[in-house]
Amino acid sequence: MTRFSLAVHGGAGTILKSSMTPELEVAYHAGLRRALDAGHAVLAKNGSALDAVTEAVCALEDEPLFNAGRGAVFTSDGKQEMDAAIMEGLGRQAGAVGSIFGPRNPIRAARAVMEQTDHVFLIGPNALKLAQDAGLPFEDTAYFFTQSRWDALQSTLKMRADGTVDDDPARRHGTVGAVACDAQGTLAAATSTGGMTAKAPGRVGDTPVIGAGTYADNATCAVSGTGHGEVFIRYTAAAEIAARMRHAGQSLEDAAAHVVNVDLGQNDGSGGIIAVDARGNITMPFNCDGMYRGSVTQDGAFETLIYR
Ligand code: ASP
Repeated sequence: MTRFSLAVHGGAGTILKSSMTPELEVAYHAGLRRALDAGHAVLAKNGSALDAVTEAVCALEDEPLFNAGRGAVFTSDGKQEMDAAIMEGLGRQAGAVGSIFGPRNPIRAARAVMEQTDHVFLIGPNALKLAQDAGLPFEDTAYFFTQSRWDALQSTLKMRADGTVDDDPARRHGTVGAVACDAQGTLAAATSTGGMTAKAPGRVGDTPVIGAGTYADNATCAVSGTGHGEVFIRYTAAAEIAARMRHAGQSLEDAAAHVVNVDLGQNDGSGGIIAVDARGNITMPFNCDGMYRGSVTQDGAFETLIYR
């Protein structure tokens, strides 16, 4: 039997110890740990990787510190538009939603697309209708609002108005995700985001694009990405990791390191990924200052990390 494992992330970017308070650092670790606990509880009861990543991502969406669900960033016109995707690696089923606002847990809306429609990707009013029909809880603007994300929008808009180039996309992103390998060796990935601060209304990033920010295939790996979404899409980041394993026989670690450090890292694609293979190996490379991340394996070894 395969040994199960789970990894989570809460976004990568300009995360410097110098700009962190001890209290905030504790809160980030606690948020990651809650997500690991939620996913681990599923896997420890012989549950599926799909359920484990769903529960882990819901816990991260509920935590306002992370840019997904409650605490999502704002578009340039002060709205919140959320993207999410989920995929399982046995039958390569997938579901995604783009640019939605309302469901408390966008990842559950993505899962509803996967399980309740013949489609992979829904946007617009019909994505919300599906979530409503599926009985998912909805929340209002007050629930999703956080002052810190609002302040980040104001400072980004001011920089734009002043003509100060925001040359560091790492300042503006963040996302949450989970990957898991269950005891049967089935893989799953789930990713959810508010996108990038001050993004154009209607902009959709890599998160819900299968093969870019989210991917799962039992023969290779499950991947969840976080970073400058446009570059992840153009380099099909997650699918490229799987392709290197499939066609070039690379290990999970080597394939992921190449994509993150070379394909993304040398092309303005700041960010990172978490990935797992069907043996339960985990890798979590990133090419910027830090990435909120954590993992747990069958032996109950929990770890949460922020910096390099
Ligand atoms: N990749 C996300 C996006 O571009 C943002 C992030 O992960 O930080 O929407």
